[in-house]
Amino acid sequence: MPKLTGTLLWYWAICKREAWLLAHEITPDEDDPYLELGRFLSKRAYPRSKRRELSLPGMKVDLLETEAGEVVIAEVKKSSRFVAAARLQLLFYLQRLEEHGVYARGELRFPKERKRLEIELDVEGRARLKQAIEDLQELIQEPLPPPPQRIPFCRRCAYRDFCWGDLDPHAAPAPKKEDRA
Ligand code: SF4
Repeated sequence: MPKLTGTLLWYWAICKREAWLLAHEITPDEDDPYLELGRFLSKRAYPRSKRRELSLPGMKVDLLETEAGEVVIAEVKKSSRFVAAARLQLLFYLQRLEEHGVYARGELRFPKERKRLEIELDVEGRARLKQAIEDLQELIQEPLPPPPQRIPFCRRCAYRDFCWGDLDPHAAPAPKKEDRA
């Protein structure tokens, strides 16, 4: 069974196919400009002197800080567009920390939008996380990935050539038979 990570959950919430491909170590183009942009943005928004990254098996948190004795972990994102996926990722990290006896508060930070969002591992968050983990585990046990589906994320996805080749990932899907009548 491939290792469950917060990043994998993030992708699962956006595209099941991408999560499957990553879980099976079919890696995308590392030179993809969108991957680079993400790395650059994270470093520029929070200069190295103030950054405290945290790595544990299955998790790499962008920032770890303490505020008035409270542990705060934060994920830095390019935009709030995929906030549901980012929340899931952070919930996973909060739960992992809790398993290690660390009770932390989570924050999603969107430096380009000058926004922050607090994330708590509350009852609803735990239930959402549990369901997502079960669904993800079921997905990655499948022998093949789900077929590609055109979604807005395809435009910036490092797998877009793999999924769509020369096709425009945003081309309108072929009309269904019943639509042609
Ligand atoms: S290109 Fe689109 S369908 Fe393919 S993995 Fe990326 S988001 Fe999913």
